[in-house]
Amino acid sequence: MTRVREVIVVGGGLIGSLVAFTLRGAGVDVLVLDADRPGAAWRAAAGLLTPDGERLRGTPLHVDALEGLRRWPALAAALERSGVPVHLHPGVARMQPGGGVACTPGEGSLHPPSVVRAARQGLEVVAAHVQALGPSGGGVRVRTDAGDWFAGQVILAAGAWSGAFGVPVGARQGQALLLRGPEEVGARYGPPAQGFSRYALSRPDGLYVGATSRRSWAVVPDTHGTRWLRGAARTLVPGADGAEIAAHLVGLRPVTPDGLPLVGPHPTLPGVLVAAGHGRHGSLLAPVTAARVLALVGQGVMA
Ligand SMILES: Cc1cc2nc3c(=O)[nH]c(=O)nc-3n(C[C@H](O)[C@H](O)[C@H](O)COP(=O)(O)OP(=O)(O)OC[C@H]3O[C@@H](n4cnc5c(N)ncnc54)[C@H](O)[C@@H]3O)c2cc1C
Repeated sequence: MTRVREVIVVGGGLIGSLVAFTLRGAGVDVLVLDADRPGAAWRAAAGLLTPDGERLRGTPLHVDALEGLRRWPALAAALERSGVPVHLHPGVARMQPGGGVACTPGEGSLHPPSVVRAARQGLEVVAAHVQALGPSGGGVRVRTDAGDWFAGQVILAAGAWSGAFGVPVGARQGQALLLRGPEEVGARYGPPAQGFSRYALSRPDGLYVGATSRRSWAVVPDTHGTRWLRGAARTLVPGADGAEIAAHLVGLRPVTPDGLPLVGPHPTLPGVLVAAGHGRHGSLLAPVTAARVLALVGQGVMA
């Protein structure tokens, strides 16, 4: 295996795998290094594409969120050429406080683990924990627990763990349940509880009910999470009361101090581009970030 590559992507989660997939599609020689960390957000994410549900109107993220929605159908079609369906579905129902349901047809949902699996199909992904990045000749030396690699350019997409490489990214933990058995409900948003959004979504792996949010690096579920999520399930899908838990998911959302993703040259590491800090919107914003990184790599825009 050659240890010298045009581009190395650090982290093969929602952002890293879609960035690499997009670069590869443009003919770039790209390698993904992923440490398969417990708590990776993509394994726990719901996959809702809901700028309104997330109250993004009037925020600096709204334009990119709408652009993400616009780009998803073409990206999903390209991903599905791998043979892996990504379950992109239009329409999200919004439960009204006084009863009744309003549908938001512009919004939608997909299945994040399938998106990552589909993106990785045509990529070279190596299991390696990246420990350090540093300059080497005109490029970047990537030190890992599986030896060193060298790249002309590196994309830092290590999710919540990107902070270990000198950028202001931390973790906000989210828990969710996958329940077995209840009826098909599509995707629906309920009224928030204790400030958290409550939503339910029928997926190929079960009924997803989410999601808690708190500042923590813990990657194991807790009883407070279970109680809150059971309550959310009762409100959103009465038939789900008592349904068997297929999985209790825990993921670390990569967050920044101002809530905006970091996409651009690393502040101090030459040759490194950052694509991290997408918080609770990584599925929605990934197509926009991937296009932005492709443009920056194409222009050779590095620090
Ligand atoms: C409960 C929950 C629900 C969510 N729901 C939604 C939703 O409905 N809609 C939406 O848009 N977003 C949602 N999100 C947010 C979304 O999951 C994240 O924004 C997105 O996954 C971020 O992608 P990422 O690639 O930056 O990080 P991750 O998905 O966490 O991937 C990071 C990857 O980097 C790897 N890695 C880390 N450190 C290293 C290292 N040193 N070396 C090599 N590899 C490394 C990890 O193994 C991992 O695979 C949700 C998140 C959670 C937790």
